[in-house]
Amino acid sequence: MKLVLASSNLGKLAEIHKVLADSGIELVAQSEFGIGDAEETGATFVENALIKARHAARLSGLPALADDSGLCVDALGGAPGLHSARYAGTHGDNAANNAKLLAVLRDVPDDRRSAHFHCTLALLRRADDPAPLIAEGIWRGHILHAPQGDKGFGYDPIFFDPSHGPAGELDAAVKNRISHRGFALARLRELLSRLS
Ligand code: IMP
Repeated sequence: MKLVLASSNLGKLAEIHKVLADSGIELVAQSEFGIGDAEETGATFVENALIKARHAARLSGLPALADDSGLCVDALGGAPGLHSARYAGTHGDNAANNAKLLAVLRDVPDDRRSAHFHCTLALLRRADDPAPLIAEGIWRGHILHAPQGDKGFGYDPIFFDPSHGPAGELDAAVKNRISHRGFALARLRELLSRLS
């Protein structure tokens, strides 16, 4: 199966490519079709994932896979959540997003710094597919007081997994085994295998 990946986030693209490398699925980034990002107007991760996948499927004429994800901090009522990519104002400015979150949480003690990443994947076989495949995953941990490590992307440098340590120090293979996206991709593979 040839799938368009409805994202221009290089961190996500790299992880999805790696996890699906042996799946027999041929992944093509939407940028290769000259497709830009859809406007994320949904109120939930699943709505935004569907909007992105439908946009890419409509413009490419191929099945499309989208990932909508974010970091939810308990002490902030789930923020930045859906707005994770543009928390500090500019879409995709990871350094500014991390700096803002650390500043907002400056006086929050360790026992109240719990958070989780959420990932929703949506696969549409065509733009008007009435039965999309939806797969989700979460990754629990807490927010550090300062960035640590230079691996991963987005909020990884300030996220800590209680069993595996700082996300910014994890090899890609380890992160893909334990992360929100890794779980969602494993679930998606399971759903696809039931179809064939
Ligand atoms: P989206 O493109 O609207 O789904 O935005 C996702 C945003 O959530 C990214 O830009 C990152 O800021 C954050 N995010 C999602 N997954 C991860 C991850 O695995 N590590 C770090 N940050 C992530």
